[in-house]
Amino acid sequence: MAGVIAIDGPAGAGKSTLSRLLARELGYRHLDTGAMYRAITWLAIERGIDLNNEEALTELARETEIKFLPADSNGVCPIIVNGQDLTNEIRKPLVNKYVSLVARIEGVREVMVKLQRKMAEEGEIIIDGRDIGSRVVPNADLKLFITASLEERARRRFNELKEKNLDLKFKEVREEIARRDKIDSEREVSPLVRVEDALLIDTTDLSIEEVVKKIKTIIDKGESNG
Ligand code: C5P
Repeated sequence: MAGVIAIDGPAGAGKSTLSRLLARELGYRHLDTGAMYRAITWLAIERGIDLNNEEALTELARETEIKFLPADSNGVCPIIVNGQDLTNEIRKPLVNKYVSLVARIEGVREVMVKLQRKMAEEGEIIIDGRDIGSRVVPNADLKLFITASLEERARRRFNELKEKNLDLKFKEVREEIARRDKIDSEREVSPLVRVEDALLIDTTDLSIEEVVKKIKTIIDKGESNG
């Protein structure tokens, strides 16, 4: 699929930051699919919907309007849900805690994948998530699987949260990430997997700039699937 870059990987691997920087470098759009599952989760919590009620959550996904605005000066594309800007709300610890439960529901995923494919149609887009190379755009031009050690991913997430003045313990952040990875990797529908044709990049010992450089070299060399 022309001009489509699929980025998958576990929580805290740096996919979003990387996608934002790459999108800016290449003049591509960025679609953060995690934000969409987070938005449905936030709404469900807000409305007091039982997170085990698959039918109600699927219905919620169907009736929710999700849009992204063009990137702001930080490269973040604000997410507008039923007309409301939820960009900050969806990053809150409560959403982190429950999002994987909502994301394992096939009905919810079907609605989201359909929307994501629609947004990908025009090309020149970087899409990041868990099932992008395996399900959303299996014919993407380039597929990357970005990972890092659990310790390092937890450290990055911890620093991010600290910057936002959120008072969490490192151990809690690490446990939360490990728990989310486990649910995401073991679920029945579209689990987090590295597909065979995805290039594996371990960012444990790399700065974000080094990762961007590495991927740009890969793109320039045309070392892709297309
Ligand atoms: O990428 P992020 O950490 O924001 O994603 C939040 C959660 O959304 C993930 O832990 C996962 O449960 C879910 N997700 C998913 N499929 C995607 C993107 C995110 O299941 N393509």
